[in-house]
Amino acid sequence: MAAVMRSLGIDVEVVPPSDARTLELGGKYSSGDECYPLKVTLGDFLRVLEQPGTDPKKTAFFMVSGQGPCRFGQYVHYLKWVLKERGYGEVTVFHPSTEYGYSDFGEASDLFTRGAWRAIVSGDILLKLLLKTRPYEVESGSADRAFEESLEELCRVLEISYPNDKAQMAAMKECLLRARGSFRGVPVRFDTQKPLIGVVGEIFCRLNDFSNRHLVRRLEEAGAEVWMNDMAEWIWYVNVDQFRMLKLHNRQVSMEALGAHIRNTIQHHDEHALLEMFREDFRGYEEPKHVREVLECAQPYLPWTGVNGEMVLNVGKAIYFAHKGLDGVIDISPFTCMNGIVGEAVYPRVSRDNAGIPIRNFYFDGTQSDLERDIGIFLELAKSYQRHKPWPRQMPAAVRAASA
Ligand code: SF4
Repeated sequence: MAAVMRSLGIDVEVVPPSDARTLELGGKYSSGDECYPLKVTLGDFLRVLEQPGTDPKKTAFFMVSGQGPCRFGQYVHYLKWVLKERGYGEVTVFHPSTEYGYSDFGEASDLFTRGAWRAIVSGDILLKLLLKTRPYEVESGSADRAFEESLEELCRVLEISYPNDKAQMAAMKECLLRARGSFRGVPVRFDTQKPLIGVVGEIFCRLNDFSNRHLVRRLEEAGAEVWMNDMAEWIWYVNVDQFRMLKLHNRQVSMEALGAHIRNTIQHHDEHALLEMFREDFRGYEEPKHVREVLECAQPYLPWTGVNGEMVLNVGKAIYFAHKGLDGVIDISPFTCMNGIVGEAVYPRVSRDNAGIPIRNFYFDGTQSDLERDIGIFLELAKSYQRHKPWPRQMPAAVRAASA
């Protein structure tokens, strides 16, 4: 995302990785009642302002927003308030919102939206390649190396300002083909008994290793493989929700609806163009053709027309994962997260209705707990489920070729 903004001529940097100072600053300006991601993002932003030479007048923070049912919509207001309190009132907070499918970027909306979407899809692809390769690598660190190098190259490609969309797409495809080659070149030794664990949950905590205490890596070290929910899925959900809202307000025939339809069509086209090159690599790891498939899975528990937010996706995806032959599902959530709590209330029924697949919430709030012990117990349940699960897992192409 930062690289895409740089391509528009904006001087953008990703906030440095969170650390102890993040929690110290975030904790100083929050009471503990707020969600953990607020504390982390607030701490990270304040840490940026502490860096020598930072000029508040020339600083803007990017923080997406929304009017969903949970506390997320309050982050921006809280951040602005804290900045003002601390004497940083001149800092700009830029907050595109879910109601417009994150397309409220003024003049640069089209350029940003398209570039950002391609960046998200490509980022998902790289993460997927990493997660399906790393648990089986022969030489420790080789999958991480392939990932880091590919990500750096992708960012270099994305920060170029191309004469048109086609030129950008061509450059991205070349870059991703090289990434594919790098990952295919990582020597691996597959183990068909390794449990495959689906990871759903609150988007920030799920994707921010610091916040989830490197849960994915720990699961891998404990002998599992992880299939993480895509970031793109959230954007598809936001799009569906935008149409739901348009219908609710009787604005299906409007310029806004037309714009949303066009954006949706372009996004499908771009996603297909990028993913198509990975059809073989992702055999057995196919995402649903449409996010509605996930919403339909969640329908008996949390009907998406009445329930709003990540909880619907998490419950729906847990069921999708069960049917794809996964051996367990973990929901990563910040402590007291509304989505996590609702999901936790529903999961026992979801598990019962789906052959008893183990589903467990892992909550995080920056404090220590015996994560290794909890992971160990969960993986024992997953292995036991693996022995009698009704849905077989489709093995990756390399495994099938080796056993042919
Ligand atoms: S999703 Fe959960 S953690 Fe995030 S803002 Fe909403 S309630 Fe808080």
